[in-house]
Amino acid sequence: MVSVPTEAALEAILEDYLRQCHGDPAHVTATQVYLKVMTRKALRQFRRRHNKEPMSEINLWGELYKFSCSKTPEISGAMIREQLRALLEKEQNYQCCYCRRPLLSSGHAKPIEHILPRSKCVQHTFNFFNLAVCCVDCNLRKSNHIWSLKEGKFTSEREYPSPESFDDLYHPRFHNYNEHIKFIRLQSNHHNISIYKGLTGQGKNLCANMLTHLSQKEVFINGNPELKEYITTIDQHTAETNSNADKAIRVFQTAFTRATDELLYEL
Ligand SMILES: [Zn+2]
Repeated sequence: MVSVPTEAALEAILEDYLRQCHGDPAHVTATQVYLKVMTRKALRQFRRRHNKEPMSEINLWGELYKFSCSKTPEISGAMIREQLRALLEKEQNYQCCYCRRPLLSSGHAKPIEHILPRSKCVQHTFNFFNLAVCCVDCNLRKSNHIWSLKEGKFTSEREYPSPESFDDLYHPRFHNYNEHIKFIRLQSNHHNISIYKGLTGQGKNLCANMLTHLSQKEVFINGNPELKEYITTIDQHTAETNSNADKAIRVFQTAFTRATDELLYEL
């Protein structure tokens, strides 16, 4: 039997976040107001998309980078994002929400992941339970996939799906990792090897679509010591968010992931 949190438990977690996450009371209020406004905008985009109305959509998540509060100048979108990320990282014990590799060893590479991708489920862009922190490998592999037979339901409904509806898709905020996936990680001076086994439908789905690929990529990199050194250096480099170096690293990581996927699966 798979356990999922009750509605009351989720409400308590959300309350906790809203009360504590963003510093002093003025910050809490300003952050809550901002997130409410952004949620309304996300729902508007969803409605228009749902009704197939022509529109030019703005990237609402991207807006977080630009926001600054006129009443409380020390509040910025960057700050909201960083504090949210810090809270989620702590909740995840500083491990990637999908592969459980430590997030501490990656420099800038700790994307906030939208479990239901915002490209398909814009209505959940700012839903607290749709957010988790993952490593760059998992983020690139997951991309805008949903990997569920219920994709149509997830994309078309306004309300966030209940924990019980994720019956073929692993949900990092609703599921207990150990119930769904078993993993072994071996680390020596020169190698890291991670092996995953799905224990449930959700866990098997995650392994088939993501974690097995990740293990194979790891083996491939381990077999190329020089490449491994470069990759480690790049992964640990801390570049300022949205700086040219940050963008260049992302371009490289995307290209590298695509190239290794082609090499491992399509040749
Ligand atoms: Zn990961």
